Amino acid sequence: MAKMRAVQVAKPNGPLELVERDIPEPAPGQVRIKVQACGICHSDAFTVEGAFPNIQYPRVPGHEIVGIIDAVGAGVQTWATGQRVGVGWHGGHCGRCDRCRRGDFINCRFAQTPGLHYDGGYADFMVAPSEALALVPDELSSEEAAPLLCAGITTFNALRHSGARAGDLVGVLGIGGLGHLGVQFAVKMGFHTVAIARGTDKEPLARQLGAHRYLDSQAQNVAEELTKLGGARVILATATSSKAMTAVIDGLGVDGKLLIVGVTTDPIEVTPLQLISARRSIQGWPSGTAMDSQDTMAFSALTGVRTMIETAPLDRAAEAYARMMSGKARFRMVLTTGS
Ligand SMILES: [Zn+2]
Ligand SMILES: [Zn+2]
Repeated sequence: MAKMRAVQVAKPNGPLELVERDIPEPAPGQVRIKVQACGICHSDAFTVEGAFPNIQYPRVPGHEIVGIIDAVGAGVQTWATGQRVGVGWHGGHCGRCDRCRRGDFINCRFAQTPGLHYDGGYADFMVAPSEALALVPDELSSEEAAPLLCAGITTFNALRHSGARAGDLVGVLGIGGLGHLGVQFAVKMGFHTVAIARGTDKEPLARQLGAHRYLDSQAQNVAEELTKLGGARVILATATSSKAMTAVIDGLGVDGKLLIVGVTTDPIEVTPLQLISARRSIQGWPSGTAMDSQDTMAFSALTGVRTMIETAPLDRAAEAYARMMSGKARFRMVLTTGS
């Protein structure tokens, strides 16, 4: 049987180890992808650290996968070998549960994610269910497309469903892996975009990404500054700090919404009075489906939104993962297979 390289975690908190495995065969309803690039996401820590329930080990992480379909399982009708596709956080749904029956596939009771429920993209090949595939436009390289399958779709999909309209004041809290994409999407969607981060270091980058204004949360009272501008219709919270989120709530205007995509486990502090008086709300947003990923990539190709990446070859996955975890990556790490 033909072999491939894969980077697996053998047990919770085990190291990322390069191993040789059989190349998988696609089951009915699945395709096999010859992986070209796979982004490293902070959520890969769920697999590495065993922080997600019921992961079967050994497991290959990775849910920002781009590659070429090289084999198609029985019953797959809409995809063919040779197509370049991506697979993201939403790696499959059952199509039969009550949520799927309402068309809410991202909230499927049996939703799957590559790298958690089945082996992901830290490998030369992987198999995925056909409903998890998104077509990658020619304008994007596989390396720059990969992070759009998680970091990109999350910010794009949250913003396009946020209720903000062209010209509205939209803040993006945090300029990192998610935020540097959030700023670009907000600008391209026609929002009056305010980038918010700690210190002045990020200001030149925020301006380069198109932000109309920059607020330094260490030197300025962000809530007051946003209020002076009329109050934000939406603040997209990408920073993984509940304290930073708490601090901006009073900067929301009438019907303003704190839209959360940065994952934390600490409580946000807010009083009913803060929410009631201006009909403010707080909402979380979980990525989207494969079609949303396809829309994210198509919009990026169309408008010039690009992920800032650092690449590393597959066999240096452990090092690249450590760099992502250290917060030093600018801004997304992407593994390449050389395919
Ligand atoms: Zn992710
Ligand atoms: Zn379902």
